[in-house]
Amino acid sequence: MPIKSRFSVPIPNCSIQQWVFGSPSGPLSDKKAWIDADRPETHYLTYTQGRLLAKRIAVGLINDGLKPGDRVLLYSFNSIFFPVIAMGVWMAGGVFTGANHGYVARELAFQLKDSGACMMIAAESIFDVALEAADLVGLKHNRIFMFDSTLPDSPDVEQEPRDGSRHWTDLIASQTKGEEFIWAEPEDSKKVTCGLNYSSGTTGVPKGVEITHYNHVANGVGAIHFNQLDPEYESKTSRAAALCFLPMCHAFSMGYFINYLPYEGVPVYVMPSFNFPKMLAHIQAFRITKLFTAPPILVLMSKHPLARRADLSSIEMIACGAAPLSKDIQREVNSMVPHGGEVAKQGWGMTEATCTTFSWDPTRPSNTSVGELVANCQAKLVHLETGAEITEANTPGELWLTGPTIMRGYWRNPTATEEAFVTDENGTRWLRTGDVAHVEEFASGTFFHIVDRVKELIKVKGLQVAPAELEALLLERNDVADAAVIGVTINGEEVPRGYIVKSPNAKDTTEDDIASWLAARVARHKRLAGGVVFIDTIPKIPSGKILRKTLRERAKREVCKG
Ligand code: AMP
Repeated sequence: MPIKSRFSVPIPNCSIQQWVFGSPSGPLSDKKAWIDADRPETHYLTYTQGRLLAKRIAVGLINDGLKPGDRVLLYSFNSIFFPVIAMGVWMAGGVFTGANHGYVARELAFQLKDSGACMMIAAESIFDVALEAADLVGLKHNRIFMFDSTLPDSPDVEQEPRDGSRHWTDLIASQTKGEEFIWAEPEDSKKVTCGLNYSSGTTGVPKGVEITHYNHVANGVGAIHFNQLDPEYESKTSRAAALCFLPMCHAFSMGYFINYLPYEGVPVYVMPSFNFPKMLAHIQAFRITKLFTAPPILVLMSKHPLARRADLSSIEMIACGAAPLSKDIQREVNSMVPHGGEVAKQGWGMTEATCTTFSWDPTRPSNTSVGELVANCQAKLVHLETGAEITEANTPGELWLTGPTIMRGYWRNPTATEEAFVTDENGTRWLRTGDVAHVEEFASGTFFHIVDRVKELIKVKGLQVAPAELEALLLERNDVADAAVIGVTINGEEVPRGYIVKSPNAKDTTEDDIASWLAARVARHKRLAGGVVFIDTIPKIPSGKILRKTLRERAKREVCKG
């Protein structure tokens, strides 16, 4: 018997932009929705301004040739305009895909090509990388728009196109055109893809995870439903403020800062990227009540002297996800926040499930688990060796999920889609998560603990690293005969470690040669920070599949030995 969420709540069949901007919590107001944390007085968008700007962008995109279903890629740091550009793409009927600002040209080119993006909007400071990537895939420069943080109608806008590219204000139609524009609502939001978030899933290289409007709305509905169980929901929400430093291109941020917080009318203070001292200063200055984090941030909070001196008295909730959170760190952080009680809670999410699937009913005391299933979702635990369904508490198995937030599939990749799902005898399609979990009380479905990961994926500071991508790159070197990359935990953080078989003619190649060569070709979080180890053979099964578990165990022993 699958484990069902205790809750079933209705999901409106509408677009994500209709859900957010049509929310009864009043988003169509002059309340500030997205605020630049560095310039809060001058750089912000109210809901009304955000909605109008998104409509103006939608008109601009359509005038520039965007057709329903076309993909637009945004390559940028966080910005108050990030959510509005995504909304504009959705209002124009397009598909939004965000790329990590740390990507090098090769990585960006991969996403451009794989998504088939017909337009790219790219931040000014990383614009050269954008141009290089566009050249690699043949995207014309006049389809690339330079994006900066000046307010679009301000006289400060410098419209200096580089190498035939254009400024993003070219995509912003007049106020009147924006006001007149009415976006076309999808007939069935389950059938219309709105986003491609990149994830490697359980195996292979990153793939475009197709998220529909319905998936997005269902995700927001589930998150808000839990919040609304809190008897103090109204008062907490009315004084709430959130801080965004997690990358907005990741499913976690999309789900919170572009979807459910704006729906609730909670102002989001936006930082371009993570900066610990600034995070602490902003918490104090803006009386942040809701903090959305990943484990390394809470590790810093618990250990850094600056955090001890910071005023954390406004914080009422800390949500942590993206990777396992240690019990000690959770306890430590709870003890630091004056609000008292169990402020820091761990949830579980996955790009393929839009965002969050396990979270907390606020009326229940929290523990170190990832909570329970959010409304409308179901889970199964499946024995790792026998494949049998687990029906008892405290027995680990692979976590399978079904529900309204589960992706349509991988973009233009039927083989990977087929591998990701299992259809049972009742015709239910289950997503195999590649995570191992157990549940404390089977009948009530509370509480789930994530105990292991059986997929290839490595998580570095909450960001994905796909071993297959790094292995393919390493094999491009003539002096590398074979390669395997696995995750190893060093000082409490997971980092990639490469096992390399040298070619016979490569006596002089050093570990440093390999690590620094790779470092030049990947985003910072994918570097081999866990080291390079030369090895005689990569352990494999006869079919050629790498025995990653064997290597992970070996790495653990090597780290223990020091
Ligand atoms: P992503 O698709 O980038 O959000 O990564 C999803 C993966 O992150 C999950 O499948 C897990 O392996 C891992 N993950 C997310 N939240 C947790 C958590 N609370 N504990 C353990 N692993 C987690």
